[in-house]
Amino acid sequence: MDLYEYQAKELFAKHGVPITPGIVVENVNDAASAYEQLGGKVVIKAQVKTGGRGKAGGVKVADNESDVKEKAGAILGLDIKGHTVRRVLISEASQIVEEYYVSFLLDRANRSFLAMASVEGGMDIEEVAATKPEALAKIQVDALQGCTKEKAEEIAVAAKFPAAVMDQVVAILQNLWTTLVKEDATLVEINPLAKLADGSVVALDGKMTLDDNARFRHPDHEDLVDNSNTDPLELRAHELDLNYVKLSGEVGVIGNGAGLVMSTLDVVAYAGEEFGGVKPANFLDIGGGASAEVMANGLDIILHDPEVKSVFVNVFGGITACDAVANGILQAIELLEAKGEKVTKPLICRIDGNNAIEGRRILDESGIAVVERVETMDEAARRVAEVAR
Ligand code: GDP
Ligand code: MN
Repeated sequence: MDLYEYQAKELFAKHGVPITPGIVVENVNDAASAYEQLGGKVVIKAQVKTGGRGKAGGVKVADNESDVKEKAGAILGLDIKGHTVRRVLISEASQIVEEYYVSFLLDRANRSFLAMASVEGGMDIEEVAATKPEALAKIQVDALQGCTKEKAEEIAVAAKFPAAVMDQVVAILQNLWTTLVKEDATLVEINPLAKLADGSVVALDGKMTLDDNARFRHPDHEDLVDNSNTDPLELRAHELDLNYVKLSGEVGVIGNGAGLVMSTLDVVAYAGEEFGGVKPANFLDIGGGASAEVMANGLDIILHDPEVKSVFVNVFGGITACDAVANGILQAIELLEAKGEKVTKPLICRIDGNNAIEGRRILDESGIAVVERVETMDEAARRVAEVAR
């Protein structure tokens, strides 16, 4: 999960990385009172989960109430790379003398962590990396040893930080590393890390990605979740503990096992070419168990997708035998109809594997009109695409 700047900065501050005080608001009147509260010049910053806000007009300095209202009003509602600004951070404006860059990230390719630092921070670190790679120091950080004082010094020296800020930068690097570890993040980035007129070094921006696999360890992170941009079906699927990803096509797909579901998406897209480009509408893996309840939850999600025209149920019976899966499909339909949700979209079922013969017989004899059984995966893909068309 990516965090907003203000959330990242709160976590930075918790671990001793210096930030400037700020208040998050959603309308111009609250922006004005935030300005009152902070006193003096402020910077108004769009809170969206994308970079380049400065260039897009999402960062503005203001020094009186009407100015604050006007600029906050201009930023709220702004579209920055497809993200609508719903909140702005009103922060004490800083007098910047120099802008640096520091980050730590999980470096999967090298099975390690990587520190990056540069004294040429500010707007575009990607550009620095591309045009002046020597200005961006990259130092590996061992996961077990972490960013010790010595490591932080190595990073700061490699990036050629001036002696005057060396101690502050070394301390910030260590605290930023602690933030990464303690909060289970895969990325922490400060750009700009600014030297101010009074000589102090502070994080003026913050970017952070939390590791979703560690979410169970952080009940305190639940209030960082912001679902305003999440697909409502994905949200419900998440609540039901289903592995669901919304896609843009017309064929709903349910299967057991991520590999089987991914190949199902491929065969559906391939078969769909013949029918004017019919495509899968989602990824949904109901896992090994495939009980009636899980099947019902899965079908419930998929059938509520208005784009879905037909559904491909592709199950390979392993530990769970096919007769149990077949009964699961029928019970799922009963469960849905009992809730008053009539199932009208065709369900094309392919079941194979453990006890397939009995499973197929159960489906064939069910007498449920929307259930159509097809022998092989390829034939089923062709049929489900044809029906969707
Ligand atoms: P980004 O463009 O999305 O990365 O947003 P940043 O938070 O990095 O802001 C962009 C630029 O705005 C920074 O590089 C600074 O030059 C400037 N900026 C940010 N905060 C302040 C501040 O408090 N005072 C001043 N004068 N400029 C700021
Ligand atoms: Mn920035």
